[in-house]
Amino acid sequence: MTTIADNLQQVRDRMAQACAAAGRDPASVSLLAVSKTFGPEAVLAAAQAGQRAFGENYIQEAVEKMAALRQMGAPVLQWHCIGPVQSNKTRLVAEHFDWMHTVDRAKIAERLSAQRPAHLPPLQVCIQINVDGGLAKSGVPPEEALALARAVAALPQLCLRGVMSIPEPAPDHATQLALHQRVRAVFEQIRASGGSGLDHFDTLSLGMTADLDAAIQAGSTMVRVGTGIFGGRARPAV
Ligand SMILES: *Cc1c(COP(=O)(O)O)cnc(C)c1O
Repeated sequence: MTTIADNLQQVRDRMAQACAAAGRDPASVSLLAVSKTFGPEAVLAAAQAGQRAFGENYIQEAVEKMAALRQMGAPVLQWHCIGPVQSNKTRLVAEHFDWMHTVDRAKIAERLSAQRPAHLPPLQVCIQINVDGGLAKSGVPPEEALALARAVAALPQLCLRGVMSIPEPAPDHATQLALHQRVRAVFEQIRASGGSGLDHFDTLSLGMTADLDAAIQAGSTMVRVGTGIFGGRARPAV
């Protein structure tokens, strides 16, 4: 096995253990492999080990990687944008990605919907929630999440799938869990709101290498793991 295949197996094992501890079905949590700063060879190695969903933060880098992987004959992969996106980059996201996790204002959502090519399925969208007002300033405050969800759900080329959050790193499990549970509460509030456009609202994108166990305990359905699969990054995370 390559190191990446080995790491992937360890992450899957860790997810299964967290599910068992939380009394959850392991099939209810999916793994998004965060490949930012790593080249197409690393993505291909993960794909060869069965991984299909990949998360990227830097749009230009991601688009180049996608093209390189097609050239290399990689299997069809699913691409998730998980980085902050300025208005002038929404077109690239709409044209190249399957999922977008970081929608935090209506203007970005409107642009993504208008720019989504007609021949593609709707862009799968999560709303980013800022639960702690922390360093990662992007994300909508919890009290504004429902209104934004309604706005996204009404857009024709977007499919509202859930909420995403990047809570501030916390040293201990209990603190991580408390933050994650606040995101879960927002998720449940929107789900219970009963508006239209919520038919596919099933995704809680929560948890990274350091805190995926607490995230799964809090109900995450998609953990986003970079370091645990690909190793440490030379460039800092965004
Ligand atoms: C980089 C990043 C990850 C992965 O972080 P690791 O700690 O390397 O697992 C997950 N989510 C987002 C939004 C990221 O930017």
